[in-house]
Amino acid sequence: MSQLELLIDKLQCGHLKGLKPYESARRLFSGGQDWLNANESPFVGQFSLNTQKLNRYPDCQPKSVLSAYADYAGLTAEQLLVSRGADEGIELLIRAFCTPGRDRVLICPPTYGMYAISAETFNVGVDKAPLKADFSLDLEAMAGYRDKVNLVFICSPNNPTGTQVAGEQIEAALELFADSALVVVDEAYIEFASDTGWAKELVRFPNLVVLRTLSKAFGLAGIRCGFTLAAPAIIQVLLKAIAPYPLPEPVAQIAAQALSPKGLEWMREKVMLLNQLKTELTTQLNDIPAFTPVGDIQANFILVRAEQKQALMDYLVGRGILIRDQSKQVALNNCLRISIGDIEQNARLLAAIHTFYQEQA
Ligand SMILES: *Cc1c(COP(=O)(O)O)cnc(C)c1O
Repeated sequence: MSQLELLIDKLQCGHLKGLKPYESARRLFSGGQDWLNANESPFVGQFSLNTQKLNRYPDCQPKSVLSAYADYAGLTAEQLLVSRGADEGIELLIRAFCTPGRDRVLICPPTYGMYAISAETFNVGVDKAPLKADFSLDLEAMAGYRDKVNLVFICSPNNPTGTQVAGEQIEAALELFADSALVVVDEAYIEFASDTGWAKELVRFPNLVVLRTLSKAFGLAGIRCGFTLAAPAIIQVLLKAIAPYPLPEPVAQIAAQALSPKGLEWMREKVMLLNQLKTELTTQLNDIPAFTPVGDIQANFILVRAEQKQALMDYLVGRGILIRDQSKQVALNNCLRISIGDIEQNARLLAAIHTFYQEQA
């Protein structure tokens, strides 16, 4: 070992030694033309930038963004925290409400990977109450973690199953953990879903936290802007842990434009279009004998179980078409997640899949 390697070995936090840098969709594949692997929007809006204020530090919580999102979500600004993506919201919740080396969080896999990754990064334990075979919550298993965890993460619509958790189940979870944990409902995909979500229930359930983002329906994954919705007392705790200037001024300007009446109209139009393309692509994929649909389509992606999964993945990558392998997740062997692209991307994907299976026959 070199001197630096020895030094790093001596100094690196013990709980980080076994971890690897997150394999985001972007890190896994950098080439390709059809990016259907990160649930991004294929559409991008138009924004303007005023550079006159760039010499100044930005607001920690820009009022223009907070008040616009408050109006959109039917809340007050005191119930909101804006951060560097919903991912930072997850991280802040863990840092603010879990003591490293002692406290634990509960997740319900198969689900979004960042809850466990964020917890592990801060030396916070991760307990699992896997979803049932129909991807509903296993409330009996969850009840076993009462008083043992500080945060419960529920993703609805869930990434990668596309299923929404029934209202009665979320309500039961909120009551189960009423005096012992915050229940975090991740609504990154709520704009695509048939259900309107939990923001309006914050007053009824003091231990409810809702996560939202501009990365999916709003087509703004590149600006890194997300929201944590919760009781003002919870938001006040998160504000102790957040960086002084989490939101760059250009991000705040673009977010405010995305949340303007015109921006919201653009978003709703694109969501309608993507939901229509999703229905079409679902029908077409279900016609492929080698595919079995898995879960539901309440978000902007489709999950399928595919015969010859690995060969198909490799074939698509060779054609610049990137989708996401979910087969390492519990109960999702041979499952692939396909984000809805624009008409041309979906057509190229479908044609490539057909050609692949014809060549195998
Ligand atoms: C994409 C995604 C996020 C991350 O949102 P960012 O605002 O881009 O950090 C959070 N939760 C789920 C379930 C997601 O799929």
